[in-house]
Amino acid sequence: MSKGFKYVIEHMEQDDEETRTLPEWVRLEYAHMLQQVGPSSTVEFTSLSSSSIPPLKTYLSSRPEGSKAVAHTQPVLDMLAKCSPPIPIERVCLLDPRAETVIAPEDADAFDVFLYGGILGDDPPRDRTGELRRLGFPGRHLGPVQMTTDTAVAVTKRVVEDGIALDKIQYSEFPTITFNKHESIEMPFRYIADDKGEPILPPGMKEHLKADLDRTIEDFYL
Ligand code: SAH
Repeated sequence: MSKGFKYVIEHMEQDDEETRTLPEWVRLEYAHMLQQVGPSSTVEFTSLSSSSIPPLKTYLSSRPEGSKAVAHTQPVLDMLAKCSPPIPIERVCLLDPRAETVIAPEDADAFDVFLYGGILGDDPPRDRTGELRRLGFPGRHLGPVQMTTDTAVAVTKRVVEDGIALDKIQYSEFPTITFNKHESIEMPFRYIADDKGEPILPPGMKEHLKADLDRTIEDFYL
């Protein structure tokens, strides 16, 4: 059984105004992460609003691997300081598109925590990960193309838990998600590819994207 890690997502997105909980795409990505990490690892969400935690916990408890999730209102530095023993910054790897060094299997010995920005990828990226970089964590990158956060977690797991080199993983880049012969959208991200070469999306994400597209079209024409 490989060593377990903490995958920590510093939540950096606003709650949905009406529901005061996490936007749908965040819940789908966060639930997907739980299925992607190894049996002795946990996925910890920090900087959540107190109003978003009960519905998130209810949602995740109904999902496969829901028990691996830990939700915090404190920011990541406070959470690390409260661990027993406290986790020092040098044992925490920030996954950072602008890091100098690429992640490698031997990083499994150097780190106990892998940290991500809980950010919906902007296109082009606005370097919001920089807010975490300033806290001084050692950084590693996952290649030159932006990934969704759940993909970044899934890739990290394959490298540090399964010992697979980054360039040995099959990817699907900027895939077009087709809903029907008239409607499709291109996603500006790199995903892990399944054995048919299709991008691995969080369960429910394709339906969510379609509903979003319909809403946008309605708004446009109304
Ligand atoms: N658009 C955001 C990044 C969103 S991706 C920005 O400008 O910073 C969400 C998170 O996934 C990032 O904060 C980072 O932790 C991780 N991530 C995504 N792609 C990555 C890559 N190629 N290398 C390293 N980390 C990456």
